[in-house]
Amino acid sequence: MGSRPRFEFFANASTILLRSGGAAVLAAALLLPLLLPGRAIAQEFASIVWKGESHPVALSGASAFSVPDAARALGFSVSRDDTTGVLTLSGKGHRVVVGAGTSEVPVDARVISISRAVSSEGGTLFAPADFVEKVLMPLVGATGSYVAGKRLWALGEATPSPLSLQVAVVHVPPTTQVVLRQSVSARFVPSLTETGFTIRWPDQRLVPPFAERLYQDPFVAAVRFSADSAAIEFREPGLTARAYPLTGPDRLVIEVGRAAAAPPVGEVTPPPSAPPPILIVVDPGHGGAETGAIGPGGLNEKDFTLQLARRLASAIPRALASRVVLTRDSDSAISLDDRTAVANHEKASLFLSLHANSSRSAGAHGSETYYLSLEASDKLGEEVARRENQVLQGSGVADVSPGSDLDFILWDLAQSAHLKESSELAEAIQEELNIVSRTENRGIKQAPFRVLVGATMPAVLVEAAFISNAEEEKKLNSAVFQQSVAEAIARALARFYSRRTPEAVRIALPTPTPTSLAPTPSPRRP
Ligand SMILES: [Zn+2]
Repeated sequence: MGSRPRFEFFANASTILLRSGGAAVLAAALLLPLLLPGRAIAQEFASIVWKGESHPVALSGASAFSVPDAARALGFSVSRDDTTGVLTLSGKGHRVVVGAGTSEVPVDARVISISRAVSSEGGTLFAPADFVEKVLMPLVGATGSYVAGKRLWALGEATPSPLSLQVAVVHVPPTTQVVLRQSVSARFVPSLTETGFTIRWPDQRLVPPFAERLYQDPFVAAVRFSADSAAIEFREPGLTARAYPLTGPDRLVIEVGRAAAAPPVGEVTPPPSAPPPILIVVDPGHGGAETGAIGPGGLNEKDFTLQLARRLASAIPRALASRVVLTRDSDSAISLDDRTAVANHEKASLFLSLHANSSRSAGAHGSETYYLSLEASDKLGEEVARRENQVLQGSGVADVSPGSDLDFILWDLAQSAHLKESSELAEAIQEELNIVSRTENRGIKQAPFRVLVGATMPAVLVEAAFISNAEEEKKLNSAVFQQSVAEAIARALARFYSRRTPEAVRIALPTPTPTSLAPTPSPRRP
């Protein structure tokens, strides 16, 4: 055999380095004998030289490189999901998810396109050279490119990449969160000053999005950038703040609030010995320039959802020992992703997104409750999801529907663990709403809603009624209907928890029997 690679078969198709007298000899196990009966394929290798060490990287053809070999060469740890074959590469605070059949690679929460789809051969993933160069190398600060004639990457260490920042200021009572989204993870030094809070990045060159911006926020008056720092100016004296980093994507969250913070919306103070109350995040759909659907009488979906959310903030704690946090408590725009980010950050038990339905068919009526899936359960559900996934971007409307393999992978990680509970919650809400809206059961449905993607708790989306239907628009605008919807949802939550945390339930719970309802009365006409 000499210095030629030897081949052995392992159950787990991974590459193992054996050191023999200082020379790295590769015993690879990439071949699946059952798939390749009677054929021995000599494995070819390229090399990555990084930090003075040479690492072999298995080749497939001339230009596809073993993803796990390249990742390990650059110091990433590699884990594999045995059911999907998807690899997760972790290192330096970053996470890369690689699956076969796609050229879109999720890196933290960004997506990087590579020149060719990743392929799976004998259970190992292979990717083109630019996967190594565009995805992996920047994460570890490596520079260099592949020399095909030598089958070699001889890599050097790059000077630190500039740190570009994006800023979002979101008031989530009782605090305001200033989110600084970072292009790379970076060391930061926070300090409280007399008039605000300062973050300094000592190791990086900053690329700020602006020099100064003023905010209409209860706590934050302005954010300013200088050569190596950001200063958050408080609206009033006596406020305080704390900073903490989050990954996926890399960002720094600065929470600004009163030193003795006012209780959040709807908070119920538990008795001293009680366990922490259940935290429900209620998301009033749309807001700001995004009006959502508009009814024939002029009602904006965004206004209805906020009114309903406020009613829920008081109705839920009456039915269930719980605390309710709203993703917005004013007519403000929040991105779809930031809505679940609030819930994830608050470690909420449930996420509830509120909407009003719309249809070209004037007769469409009734309530619908959805939970997440990549495939809509029917064509109407698909249309509802497409409409709710539209957001204003710049001057136009953009569709941010999940739909690629990539989103599936991201979603799968976050939401799949909660699907059963999400469906149970959706069912409880829909049963209660059927009684309130006195409509036939439109049923619980599944559809790919962007706002539910990434929620790390049971999450549902409620379309309370059809704002496009003139009769239902009137109901949506009425305090009586809003209150009965809020109470129906609160009852459903109490039912949901009666099987999990019965001691938290504060109301008597008759089991609804929607099938035995009296015939639907005709809507009253003026
Ligand atoms: Zn909506």
